Amino acid sequence: MYLKEIRAQGFKSFADKTTIELNKGITGVVGPNGSGKSNVVDAVRWVLGEQSVKALRGTDSMTDVIFAGSKSRNASNVASVTLVFDNQDNYLPLAFNEVSVRRRLYKDGTNEYYLNEEKVRLKDIQNLFLDSGVGKDSFNIISQGKIDEILSNKPEDRRGIFEEAAGVLKYKKRKEEALRKLDKTEENISRVDDIIKELENQVEPLREQREKTLKYNDLEDELKNIEIALITNDITNINYEYQDKLGRIDVLKKELLELSTTNTNNEAIIEDYKLKINKLEESIKITQTNLLDITSKVEQINAKKTILLERQKYNVEDSKLHDNIVYLKESVLKLENSINIAKIEIDTLTNEYSLLLTDIKNQMSNLEKTKLEKAAVDNELTTMVRNESSLKNNISSLIETIDNNGSLPYVVKAVLDNPKLRGIHDIIGNLVDVPSEYSEAISVSLGFSSTFIVVDNEFVAKDAINYLKNNNLGRATFFPLNIIKGKNIDGPIKDLISTIPGYIDIASNLVTYDPKYKDIILNQLGNIIIVDNIDNANNMARRINYSYRIVTLDGELISVGGSLTGGRNKARNVITDKYELELKQKELSSVEIKIKELEEKLNNISTNISAIDDKIYLLNRDKIEKESYINSKNTHLEEMVSELNKLNNELMGTNNIVNKNVTNEENEIIKEYYDALKEKEEIIHKLDNLNRDKNNLSEGLSNYEFTLKKENSLYNSKNETLKSLEIETNRMDVKLDNLLVSLSENYGMTYEKANSLYHLELDENKARSRVNSLKREIKELGPINPDAPSQYEQVSTRYEFLIKQRDDLVNAKEMLLQIIEEMDEVMKKEFVKTFDIIKENFSQIFKELFKGGYANLKLSDKDNILESGIEIEACPPGKTLKNINLLSGGEKTFTAVSLLFAILKSRTMPFCILDEVEAALDEANVAGFGEYVTKLKDQTQFILITHKNKTMEYADVLYGITMQESGVSKLVSVKLGDIGGSRV
Ligand code: ATP
Repeated sequence: MYLKEIRAQGFKSFADKTTIELNKGITGVVGPNGSGKSNVVDAVRWVLGEQSVKALRGTDSMTDVIFAGSKSRNASNVASVTLVFDNQDNYLPLAFNEVSVRRRLYKDGTNEYYLNEEKVRLKDIQNLFLDSGVGKDSFNIISQGKIDEILSNKPEDRRGIFEEAAGVLKYKKRKEEALRKLDKTEENISRVDDIIKELENQVEPLREQREKTLKYNDLEDELKNIEIALITNDITNINYEYQDKLGRIDVLKKELLELSTTNTNNEAIIEDYKLKINKLEESIKITQTNLLDITSKVEQINAKKTILLERQKYNVEDSKLHDNIVYLKESVLKLENSINIAKIEIDTLTNEYSLLLTDIKNQMSNLEKTKLEKAAVDNELTTMVRNESSLKNNISSLIETIDNNGSLPYVVKAVLDNPKLRGIHDIIGNLVDVPSEYSEAISVSLGFSSTFIVVDNEFVAKDAINYLKNNNLGRATFFPLNIIKGKNIDGPIKDLISTIPGYIDIASNLVTYDPKYKDIILNQLGNIIIVDNIDNANNMARRINYSYRIVTLDGELISVGGSLTGGRNKARNVITDKYELELKQKELSSVEIKIKELEEKLNNISTNISAIDDKIYLLNRDKIEKESYINSKNTHLEEMVSELNKLNNELMGTNNIVNKNVTNEENEIIKEYYDALKEKEEIIHKLDNLNRDKNNLSEGLSNYEFTLKKENSLYNSKNETLKSLEIETNRMDVKLDNLLVSLSENYGMTYEKANSLYHLELDENKARSRVNSLKREIKELGPINPDAPSQYEQVSTRYEFLIKQRDDLVNAKEMLLQIIEEMDEVMKKEFVKTFDIIKENFSQIFKELFKGGYANLKLSDKDNILESGIEIEACPPGKTLKNINLLSGGEKTFTAVSLLFAILKSRTMPFCILDEVEAALDEANVAGFGEYVTKLKDQTQFILITHKNKTMEYADVLYGITMQESGVSKLVSVKLGDIGGSRV
């Protein structure tokens, strides 16, 4: 490698673009003082990365190197120098035959470095030349007046040259880097140790708090499971009993109503009976008076008749016959009387009989009618029971759908059912309770968002989305509670809409929900207006300029902007399911009531039928009895009629015999007597009838009175039962309310949800005592830190992470120490090797140049090779070895030049720039210097800046630097012939 070209522009006195072309061998640079020769050396050093302004002979800043202007020229804005190297031998580790290195500096202090026209960093340039023998500090560039410094420097300051020559600078640099890293690593270790110590103080208390919190959570979970199951169980049992009692209350009320109606009827009947009995008693009294009257009349007539008959006996010849006629006449009249009474009796009986027949006929038709009625009720009951079972099926399938979120998209269910996902609340549709009349409107208002999932925060949503993504389950929408904000309708519009006909309310006001979801609900329903029908909705939309969504009770929707959506919504969702469930449950309870009513009706009809059957049986029995009684009465009547005929015949025969023996007076009195008798008989018969009727009525009355008494006591006892049932159900109602409130307040749960999720697995008593002991244990735990598990997790994870980091740092430290040690070894070896060679060369070249004498190099501290300084011993021929500082100026220069050559010999340096190093030498020594340079020129390119003609003689090419235009250096070629003296 050699330096092919130096191009400078705007650098120091080289204002114009100046190119110095160089060849291998020796190039001499000559010129008057101050023409800018040394600026060439500065230019080379500058490009190689010199950062010291002083080393470049500047004063303040690096911008001092930019051409500062002259009388006739303006200053430059930028200084630029390029070194072009021939790299055909690949001396520089780059795959280019030519390598150009450029540095530019702008007035603002910006430096730019280019390698083969590509912008690079300063470090890249330094690394490229490190240990190449071409560095800015390398011994191959010796500025003016600096050659002697090598001798006057302290032994330690000389090391650099030897280290450069030994090629250990790269190790040294790496070692420095390693040491820097080591410092940093140690600093990190101590920092990590501090944090670890601090964390150690936190970990243990947090671990204890965590244990306590976990125990608390376990106890709470167990308590929650058992208590909810227990409450649910209590609610179920109490409600069962409660419903049963309510049913009994209903039945009792009905029975009491019926009883009170019956009692009122009975009381009326009793009053009627009493009235009739009173009337009968009046009639009996009158009839009895009549009987007394007629009896006394009969007795008077009888007395009259006896007297008359006694008197007649004396007038009649055949008194016996006369008696017989009287007897016969009396018998005839008596019999006629009896026949008459018998006929009346038979008439009464026949009437009664025909009444019985009518009664039987009526009862039979009544029976028929009741049986038909029973069949109809039977039919109705069957239909109702069928309805009931189909409703129950519908209800249980709806409940199952609602409980299992059956109408939800699979992806939403997957999130809700995943127990690993924390912080998931529910879908929006499940968070609102909608009165049935607003179901359609709210369902349409929510639309798809009824299945949006409410979560604690965005992190929960992120976890859930990751879960969906990882399992390829599809997409879902999440509403983080901490982010979503409610929406409202602007005040003025709110005031306006409430005055428009048909306005019902804002959708969010029509539903109920847990206050913690207020923002979510307002976000979805806070800006939707509910209106009764589509006509009013259209009117309202016009009035508010289509600025808010309007939904009607039938589910028509007017969107913002005015589009209209309507028709029947077939899609199912939680709200429509709940609405349908409510409808079905209402329908079921009315069907159940109807069934109960029908069953009761059927029962009553059956009782009625058997009562009618009994009545018909009794009526038939009466009918048969009456028939035989009438028959016997008729037979008796017939007997009496034939007896009468016989008596009349006998009377007629006897009359014919006696003829006119019975007087008209007798006849009249007898007739009067029997008429009175007949009247008496009739009165007695009437009295009998009246008494019988009275007895019948009295019997009926006492029956009714007995029934009334019985029913009154039944009414009272049922009323008592009703009252105590009502007290009990009131108590149960309060108890149920308390249980439901405790379920919702303590656990935020409805009974339905709790019932579907929690089941009592312990015996009830054991569960109660377990709940008590759990509550005691929780109380004994005292206050807990609910965040302790997550805090412990965080702190312990960090603690473990830091422990690992410290281990890594300690390992890194050991590795660095090992690397440093290895590098020290290499550096020692290389340094000693090179030092020995230079030492040998120095001693030999000194003798050669001084033509005798003695020189040597020594390590100041052999035991510390890496830091040891280097001592120089030099003794020109014929002199005594003393201190090198006692050497003359020329001797010092020549000794230093010997050392330079020793180094050049020990290690190939591609080029060497020497700025007037030989200035102090006399002619003979300049010749020695020139000859030695000539010896080395094949292996090293020399650029010699000189004033000495002798030196110029050794140059293969000579350049002159002039400053014709004041202040600007110019390059001129100098013909070798122009120089005085001859070339060697
Ligand atoms: P000598 O033979 O005396 O050593 P030289 O040829 O080596 O002289 P240099 O030291 O290279 O001369 O150049 C010095 C000249 O460069 C001075 O005239 C100085 O004014 C000029 N110079 C230095 N820096 C700048 C700059 N930034 N702008 C313009 N000129 C500058």
